[in-house]
Amino acid sequence: MAIVLTGDRPTGKLHLGHYAGSLKNRVKLQDEYKSYIMIADTQALSDNYENPEKIKISILEVVKDYLAVGIDPKKCTIFIQSLVPELAELTMYYMNMVTIARLGRNPTVKNEMQQKGMEESVPAGFFCYPVSQTADITAFKAEVIPVGEDQLPMIEQTNEIVRRFNHTYKKDVLVECEAMLSNVRRLVGIDGNAKASKSLNNAIFLDDDESVIKEKVDAMYTDPQHIKVSDPGHVEGNVVFEYLDAFYSDKQEVEDLKQQYIKGGLGDSVLKSMLFDCLKDMLKPIREKRRSLVESELLQMLMDLSKVARDVAKDTLYDVKEAIGINY
Ligand code: ATP
Ligand code: MG
Repeated sequence: MAIVLTGDRPTGKLHLGHYAGSLKNRVKLQDEYKSYIMIADTQALSDNYENPEKIKISILEVVKDYLAVGIDPKKCTIFIQSLVPELAELTMYYMNMVTIARLGRNPTVKNEMQQKGMEESVPAGFFCYPVSQTADITAFKAEVIPVGEDQLPMIEQTNEIVRRFNHTYKKDVLVECEAMLSNVRRLVGIDGNAKASKSLNNAIFLDDDESVIKEKVDAMYTDPQHIKVSDPGHVEGNVVFEYLDAFYSDKQEVEDLKQQYIKGGLGDSVLKSMLFDCLKDMLKPIREKRRSLVESELLQMLMDLSKVARDVAKDTLYDVKEAIGINY
């Protein structure tokens, strides 16, 4: 059975970008694949090291989001990265398999450094986090990684390290992986930014109350030139249409509305109210399930499943050290 691994950084609650880009795929995959989901607290510290409390609190928030959307801990090993210290050790060995220059070319990291104003003073831990992602993926011999588009450079870098390692130590210990993208490769932010993201604070969260969903839909960026209802409007870059494309079930209806909008005669408020109804109905059961979960039970579950994950990572670490020839 093929193995799947994904994860999220516990830096806040999860949002519709996660849901469309990755969570929905994970729920589907858990029936057919051996699935692992990692809560990347160690990685999240690399740009939040001054605020560890945020990471700690967010671990439970992220787990709640998982269970609320239908991830089943009986089918899927959900674990905490820092409870599997073998991952840190693997990272050390893999650091030798990549150059500083190559790390510096990773477009996602470059973009994040710019966004976070880190260009002059990037912590080594942040700069090198793609290597720790290689450890996370390879420790579980994962072959399929359901992620959003921004993660493609990480998968590429992982496979380079895998090939370099196997070649250097002349043994096929590590397994290459491939990304699985959903039909929503990158959900835009409500402000029109290219990506809905926790750090940009431009996302609708799975736990948002109806009044908050309404406010956010009302505030969505549409077409600044579409002033009167009768004006012809633009569909590209129009956040409301991007969200209707991602979440509205009747695709034909959305196509018809687009044609009408382009011609003129369709107001933003009609579309926004349609989108609000759609998101409200979709998120209600998720929010209710989320709020019914008991935190102490979730913590116990995470402790238990992290032990299961650790046993798997220990085996890989053993193989890696044996391949290098340092299994003293
Ligand atoms: P942060 O701002 O803390 O980096 P984030 O919102 O970017 O948070 P991550 O935890 O970095 O979220 O991402 C976890 C997973 O969710 C990744 O696979 C990522 O590709 C996917 N993802 C996040 N945001 C989106 C989005 N807007 N569209 C599609 N996928 C997304
Ligand atoms: Mg991110």
